[in-house]
Amino acid sequence: MFLCDAMLGGLAKWLRAAGYDTYYAREGTDIDDRALTEKALREGRVLLTGDRGFLERAPVRDGRLKLLLLPHLPVEEQLRAVVERFEFTPRPSRCMECNGKLETVPFEEIADRVPLGVARERREFWRCRNCWRVFWHGSHWARISGRLERVFS
Ligand SMILES: [Zn+2]
Repeated sequence: MFLCDAMLGGLAKWLRAAGYDTYYAREGTDIDDRALTEKALREGRVLLTGDRGFLERAPVRDGRLKLLLLPHLPVEEQLRAVVERFEFTPRPSRCMECNGKLETVPFEEIADRVPLGVARERREFWRCRNCWRVFWHGSHWARISGRLERVFS
């Protein structure tokens, strides 16, 4: 659904937490502006970028590629701008690290990967189908979901 340029890694994580399929072009990889433009076009993604240079690219100029230009703002403001532009509602979260889909997983399958205190307090666990990280609703998640609620309210 989205492709974030290398400057927007923070936003990419938040879009994933909000449940939106988001590819993030990591800094340091050799994916250039042209390749990013082509990938977004090929995969039907909206290009999110802070770089005005993309406005000059042919697929953006002729309207084939949707683009949202995001200024340097706190990530919560950037997320708000995306939400307002595309009239979003939150969906089930995706993996903030890799964009994989999360599935609920029985505790028995991941018991050895959960700290004891968490195992006592939590009953619900999720696992990323792609990178196999395990998640639960702890204090980190409470902060994230609190901020998402503010943006989506
Ligand atoms: Zn993952």
